[in-house]
Amino acid sequence: MRSFLPSTFRLDSWKSVTPYIRILMNDKWRDLSDFQKWLQRLNELETVIKEEATWKLIRYLQNMQDEDNRLAYEHYLKEIKPRLSKALYHLYKRYWHSPWRSTLPKEKFLNFNRTVYNYISLYNPQNVVLEAKAELLANECNEIIGMIAEETVEVDGEILTLSEASSFLNSQDREKRREVWEKIYEVDAAYQDRLDDIMSELISIRTQIAKNTGFDNYYDYRFQQLGRFDWSVDLCHKFHRLVEKVVKPLYEWLLSYRRRRLGLKTLYPWDLYLDVNDADKPLEPFQREDELIEKSLKLFERLHPKIGAYVRYLREIGHLDLSYRPGKTPTSYCLTLPESGLPFVLMNAIGIHRDVVEFIHEVGHAVHVLQSRHIPYLLLREYPMEVAELASIGLEMMALYHMDVFYPSLSDLGRVWFEQISQIITSLPWIATVDAFQEWLYKNPRHTPKERRTEWIKIYRRFHGDEAVWPKEALGILWQRKIHIFDSPLYYIEYGIAQIGALQLWYNYDRQPHETMERYLYALSLGYTKRVPEIYKAARVQFWFDAPLMKKLAHFVISKLKEAYIWMWDDSYL
Ligand SMILES: [Zn+2]
Repeated sequence: MRSFLPSTFRLDSWKSVTPYIRILMNDKWRDLSDFQKWLQRLNELETVIKEEATWKLIRYLQNMQDEDNRLAYEHYLKEIKPRLSKALYHLYKRYWHSPWRSTLPKEKFLNFNRTVYNYISLYNPQNVVLEAKAELLANECNEIIGMIAEETVEVDGEILTLSEASSFLNSQDREKRREVWEKIYEVDAAYQDRLDDIMSELISIRTQIAKNTGFDNYYDYRFQQLGRFDWSVDLCHKFHRLVEKVVKPLYEWLLSYRRRRLGLKTLYPWDLYLDVNDADKPLEPFQREDELIEKSLKLFERLHPKIGAYVRYLREIGHLDLSYRPGKTPTSYCLTLPESGLPFVLMNAIGIHRDVVEFIHEVGHAVHVLQSRHIPYLLLREYPMEVAELASIGLEMMALYHMDVFYPSLSDLGRVWFEQISQIITSLPWIATVDAFQEWLYKNPRHTPKERRTEWIKIYRRFHGDEAVWPKEALGILWQRKIHIFDSPLYYIEYGIAQIGALQLWYNYDRQPHETMERYLYALSLGYTKRVPEIYKAARVQFWFDAPLMKKLAHFVISKLKEAYIWMWDDSYL
């Protein structure tokens, strides 16, 4: 319930916000209760603005071809958001320097204070211009990647866009796969110099941003900006070492399994995409949106009645928009509406297995939002990504046990398990590569594009081995396909940390499903009121991963892969 802004308030322009900012700037505090009331009002203002802005984003993503929706969202980004950041900087500075702040309960306001301090200490008007410049460059990359996808190549006398042509990478015909892969690579290669230039420019701008704020390099600056309060670069290095030691052999085994199943002597990049387990018959989990929801409801209810009830409720209030429509965003989202405390799930589902996994993933985020909606302060509800992704990937893993609602046959279930496990094994070396590469980029900002490629190849090989044989020029620019490197610098290892957490949830669920699910829901209800390792611990998950833990998880993963293999290839196992 609003007590500061009128219920009729709409975020139409910056002018609609300024009267409230002015009140908050000038309010006098006579006592602690005045101060607390002020803080609640500030929280209300931020919450309401974010709710309104999120609706603008949802409407834009639902129909990206609608001019009005796009303009409304862009207006927020250009005209309101920068002014809001500046106003919040001044308001939070008021909060920070208030004598009443020290009377607030320390532990309860720990993350609140850490977030505010981070915000005001890194705010630098000089950097606003540089940030905007970097954002424009990152947008240009997005456009280039969009342009690449729209480029056409000729396959069998037909003109196809690259995204259409890439379906040939699943073909059983190896010559065809190679031909199409090479055509796609040629298009990619034509853009490599422009992308290299953008990267060099981004590195120099970002290095300047860090220097303006008193940091030696952008890596250290960004580490703090991302609010990584509870862990340091040591954890990243430990992640790299353990992935190299424990996960890389599993990844190499997966590749050799692929090579043997395909009957090949050598694996080339064009052999890496097709489904090795029965590619002729794609899985068909559902056809229409209501079928996806009905079947998922059964799955969620089995996981926990509360999750079933949440999803039912979201459907009732129209917060699930799942099926394919032209003009809709191709990406899956769970967006948070902080004032109502409700999530909104947006997808472009067409009936493939990937849609099922993504829906469960987004429901994991949605459950998180609903479990933590009781927390009064927005800053204590905005958990970092390593916490958010524990909820979503963790739910994906636990849901594996109930996939029979989509796939009654044991061999299909085997495929689903095999694919999910392979996906995790494949992503961990990739995350380590992307993270170690970016650390090198920003700690050695004066490198040349040529040195950058050499370093990328070295790091890629360190985590992936050489079971797959890549043409050197193609491997050297593979990093250019990862948009995060351009637009969300260094924001990636969080996925790796969360995956190790999710593997533990899976391990625990395998043994004690009921208790694991209760602990999971409890951890999610904490929002961001505790330190990250404490939130993990509440879910009975070890945040500080180490070699014994990783080895235990690797053994578990291998045993489950074997099980999945038997389900796939030997039904008589029943
Ligand atoms: Zn996610």
